[in-house]
Amino acid sequence: MDRKLLLIILDGVPYRNFRRLFGNLEGWVASGEARVWTHRSVLPSTSASCYASIHTGVTPQDHGCTGNANVFRLKQDDVFSQVRKGGGTTGAVAHSFWSQFFNRSPFDVVRDIEYDEPESTTINHGRFHTMTGYGLINQMTPSDVDLFATLTNLCTRFDLNYGMLHTCTLDSMGHRFFHDCQEMDHACFVMDEMLAPFIPRWRAMGYEVIVTADHGQDARGHHGGRDPLQQETALYYFGAGEGPAAGEVIDQLQLAPTILSRLGAPVAETMKAASFLR
Ligand SMILES: [Zn+2]
Repeated sequence: MDRKLLLIILDGVPYRNFRRLFGNLEGWVASGEARVWTHRSVLPSTSASCYASIHTGVTPQDHGCTGNANVFRLKQDDVFSQVRKGGGTTGAVAHSFWSQFFNRSPFDVVRDIEYDEPESTTINHGRFHTMTGYGLINQMTPSDVDLFATLTNLCTRFDLNYGMLHTCTLDSMGHRFFHDCQEMDHACFVMDEMLAPFIPRWRAMGYEVIVTADHGQDARGHHGGRDPLQQETALYYFGAGEGPAAGEVIDQLQLAPTILSRLGAPVAETMKAASFLR
């Protein structure tokens, strides 16, 4: 496999926060470097259920993850396993749920916090964190610049074909402070500024880049249901693929087949949605 793609998931960012507050991403949309669409999550619009659907391309009603208290090794093929079948190398910098879903469960905090497994049929290079002790007054999230740097480090050292990064910072901020406040304005501004220098760097390394969230959040920082504020986020794409018209809505189940198509990896039979890029 000679193609490369990075998926950056900023947990819990509603569409309007991306479009209103991420000035670097929006600047690249304005300059033509990036395209942006609405991305609608599955139901429930709960984090773990969305992670599982983003990577398997099937609904929670099919994969069976009904929420954050129900995390297990999924049965379906997923983006990591399909990239491996296509001959590519994979990496992840993410919450430990991603390791449990796509590599092994339960999560052993010592064994699984960091691994390099060149023969793995799923995740070759994993760097995880658990957020143990997370609550409203202590987010327990690493600095996002550390996560972006760790992904870049893996790309450099192991020449990843597919890398996935996931961070809960903004989801935690939204649950704590809601959205019409100085704290959230600042948190989104800082995230955009921390992420921005990495994007041209990743592009120069030959990566296509997708930046999105797993779901949105409503005015009270809630998500899980069908409210558009809870389900809808933005999806930014940097790459040579042709996408749909502006204003079209991307279904969350389209992410897995799209990523695999861009990489030239086999799309699993269970992934029935169409790629949104060609
Ligand atoms: Zn989430």
